Parts: sequence; structure tokens; C-alpha cells
Amino acid sequence: MYIDGNWVETGSTFDVFNPANGEKIGEVADGDASDARLAIEAASKAFATWSTTTAYERYEKLHRAYELMMEEQSSLAELMTREQGKPLKAAMNEVKYAADFLLWFAEEAKRLYGETIPSARSDQRFLVMKQAIGVVAAITPWNYPVSMITRKVAPALAAGCTIVLKPAEATPLCAMAVFRILERAGFPAGVLNLVTCDSPAAIGEEFCSNSVVKKLTFTGSTAVGQKLSQAAAPQLKRVSMELGGHAPFIVFDDADPVHAAKGAALVKFLNTGQACISPNRIFVQRSILEPFLETLQFRISKMKAGDGMQEGVAIGPLVNQQAIDKVDNQVRDAMDKGASLHCGGERLSKGELDKGFFYSPTLLSEVNSRMLIYREETFGPVAPVIVFDTQEEVLAMANDTHYGLAAYVYTRDISRALRMFEGLQFGIIGINDINPTSAAAPFGGMKESGLGREGAREGIDEYLETKLAGISI
Ligand code: NAP
Repeated sequence: MYIDGNWVETGSTFDVFNPANGEKIGEVADGDASDARLAIEAASKAFATWSTTTAYERYEKLHRAYELMMEEQSSLAELMTREQGKPLKAAMNEVKYAADFLLWFAEEAKRLYGETIPSARSDQRFLVMKQAIGVVAAITPWNYPVSMITRKVAPALAAGCTIVLKPAEATPLCAMAVFRILERAGFPAGVLNLVTCDSPAAIGEEFCSNSVVKKLTFTGSTAVGQKLSQAAAPQLKRVSMELGGHAPFIVFDDADPVHAAKGAALVKFLNTGQACISPNRIFVQRSILEPFLETLQFRISKMKAGDGMQEGVAIGPLVNQQAIDKVDNQVRDAMDKGASLHCGGERLSKGELDKGFFYSPTLLSEVNSRMLIYREETFGPVAPVIVFDTQEEVLAMANDTHYGLAAYVYTRDISRALRMFEGLQFGIIGINDINPTSAAAPFGGMKESGLGREGAREGIDEYLETKLAGISI
């Protein structure tokens, strides 16, 4: 763990495994609430000076961290592939995406503008300024083990906050590698702290109940996000929640079904479907169902599963056995209730694959609202296709979920695109576009997909207080 500028160990450790082959790849300190407390104290001490640094000093360190991360892009990507499983090319892309947050928020540090507001009284002036909120506690998931860290750490540090981060149990090595880069960039002791652990509940409780922590930022499942929000409520701590999703992917019959199917194949199977913005219900208008399914099936059947270090692999392992069971349960449930299986639908266990958590890329059609997959986040390589007839009908079906993170629309009709953009109750909408994400664009969900935004101008606001002075002159 990295606490107050030192790498520290505890008496106990836990093992880290490669999900592609089950090999042990590391052993990491198993921290507890007392370690989290020490880290929070260090962050509190450091806040007194870090929050008074100039924006230009914070810019310099974040910019240096960006340069160092890009220098280490290949080694960090290789570590990510071994620890998390995604194909090396996707890991390289993630490191670039992660570094982009350091660069973007380095620049944003210089733009923490306040404002003056006209008063109704001639002898009064209003002055508004933004100030760092204080010590931030952050919890991140395993599916994007580097970028989910920089998406929080970069804006927090740019704002002048200090931070304590608890990464996912499955990917602590990536978190340690990120913190080594940040350490080399020259952030003072205590400004950033890392607490690794095997059982997160006690550390989550400490983050929520410790009154020194002024802000909790969490990325993970909706169930855990709800629990943490409740625990943080008595102190009215500021919270940001980036939670689960159930993205609709809607293809109208004025779109090119082949182009749309290629897009669906790319975005659905990215990170083996383990993404919060992964399409979870693919709605296709009736008249183009056939060419759409044909292209999607063709694309899926060409996807090679295996160890992400191997050339040509598109499908890496799932994170663990529970993930395999959940995906398989959803597929069996859908088939029992009348879905058609076009390809996949089983665990892959031939040869080397037997040692990892591999599930075959799967295509289901005739999916309906009675099936688990229609409601539950899948987080795996399954594309469920649903047919629709009218725009009104598909809008109602798409919005019929507690989630509201990402949605995708394929159409060539600009009016329809805008009406769907306005009508969809989701925070991120890709219109003929499968990658509506960037460090410069606000990322976040509506409904039970979360609170707040990460990235963009909005991302730094999450770490700032707005302070008003009313001045009598
Ligand atoms: P998770 O089980 O909620 O875990 C996320 C993080 O929370 C991990 O670090 C985990 O630690 C920790 N955690 C679990 N229970 C906790 C508790 N009681 N107190 C404190 N911390 C606790 O989610 P996951 O399975 O890792 O990630 C997948 C989920 O994240 C999906 O639902 C996905 O949609 C969502 N996600 C959302 C976004 C977004 O931006 N909206 C981005 C990526 C992922 P351990 O690892 O030790 O259990």
C-alpha cells in the first residue's frame, strides 16, 4: 500500500491471479480499516498545503504524470492484460484513455474560474469562488483497472484535493503501477494514498463514517453504490456514483443494417462485454432484422477467444467463476423462455481455455421482457436481439429499465436522431457512434446508474465547493 509517501506492508496478504490461465501473478498487502484511517490522516495533513498550491504547480505534476504514463504505455498494458485479461491492443487503448484524464485535468486546473454576480443593492457586491472540497475517498472496479483510477485521481488532484483510493481486489497490481507513476511525477507525501484489500466492507465503512473524508467517489455496481450512499448520508458527504448500466442499442430501418451490425459487434464484445456501457438489449426494426442478424452472427463467429497476450484474440476471459455462472444462467433462462440461439451459449474449455474463465461469444434473438437478460446487467459476451415496429414502441421499451447510463441509436434521419436523443433517459447517447466517451466529455448516468459526472468540465466540479461572498461597500 502507498500511505503518506511510503510503500508499506501489513501482516497479511492476498494473491492476485491471471483470469486467462489461473496463474498466480502477485501477492498484495491486505489492508483494513486501520490502514484506511492512517491514509485518511495522511491525506488530511497533506491537504493543508496541497490545497494552497497554485494551479500551475498542480498542472506541472499532472502533466508529468501524463508523460510518464505514456512512456510506460506498453508495460502497463501488458500488466493489465495479465491481471484483467483484455486483449493487449485494448489494454494499450485503455492506458491512452487513462493518460488522457491526467492531461485534460492538468489543463482544467488552470480554469477553476469564479464569477461576480450583480446585486440588487448598489452598495453590495457578490463574489463566487471555487475551493477544493477536502479529503476524497475513492473506490474503483476491476474492468477498467487503470482509467477508472485516473478518471477520479486526476480531477481530485487538479482541484487541490488529496485522495485515498481502494482499488478492486482483482486488479491491485495495475493500481500499484499507476501510483508508482504518480509517485515519480513528484506529488508530495500524503497527497495520494493507496489501500489494497481483500474484503472491502470495513474500508468502505471507514470511508463513509470518517468525518475527515468530505467526498466519496465510487465506480462499481448499483447495489454497492446504494449501500455506500446510504452509509455516507448521515454526514451528508458529497458522493459521486458511477454505477451499472443496461444499454439499449437501437437500429432503425433507415440505417444501414450491415454497418450497424458491425458497430454492435465491436461495442458489445469490447472487454468481453464487461463494460458499464455495453449494449444489453439490441433493438432492431423488423424489416432489417435478417441482414442485421446475418452480419452480427458472421462477425461474432469470427471472434477468437484466448489469452489476451496472443495475437488475434478478441475475447478475453471473464473475471471469475461467478461471472461465468451469471452469464450462463441468463442464456439458459432466455432459451427456456423462447429465445433462439444463433451461436455460442456455452463455457469454452478446450485445451488452454480450460484453465481460464472463458465464455463463447453468444448471439440470441427473439428475446423478450420476461427474460432475465432483458432486465439484469449481463457483464459478459452475449448479444440479445429484440425486434420492434415503431419509434414510440422502441423508445418506451428502451426506457423500461432502472438503469440510465448509455444508449445507442442508428438512423439516417436527423429529426428521429434528435427526438431519440431527447427522449432516451440515459446520460450518454451514441448516435451512429459506438464510442461516445472521451476525457473531454461528461460521462455518467441517470436513474440508478449514478449521480454526478466524470471527465469534462463537470468532472472537476465534483471535487469543488462553491463559496459566495456578499460584500457591503
Ligand atoms: P462492485 O462489486 O460494486 O465492486 C466495485 C468496487 O467496490 C470494488 O473495488 C469492490 O471491492 C468494492 N466494494 C464491493 N463491495 C464493497 C463494500 N461493501 N464496501 C466498499 N467497497 C466495496 O462492482 P464490480 O463487479 O467490481 O464492477 C462491475 C460494476 O461496475 C458493473 O455494474 C459496472 O456496470 C460498473 N461500472 C460502472 C462504470 C461507470 O462509469 N458507470 C464503470 C465501470 C464499471 P472488491 O473488488 O474487493 O470486491
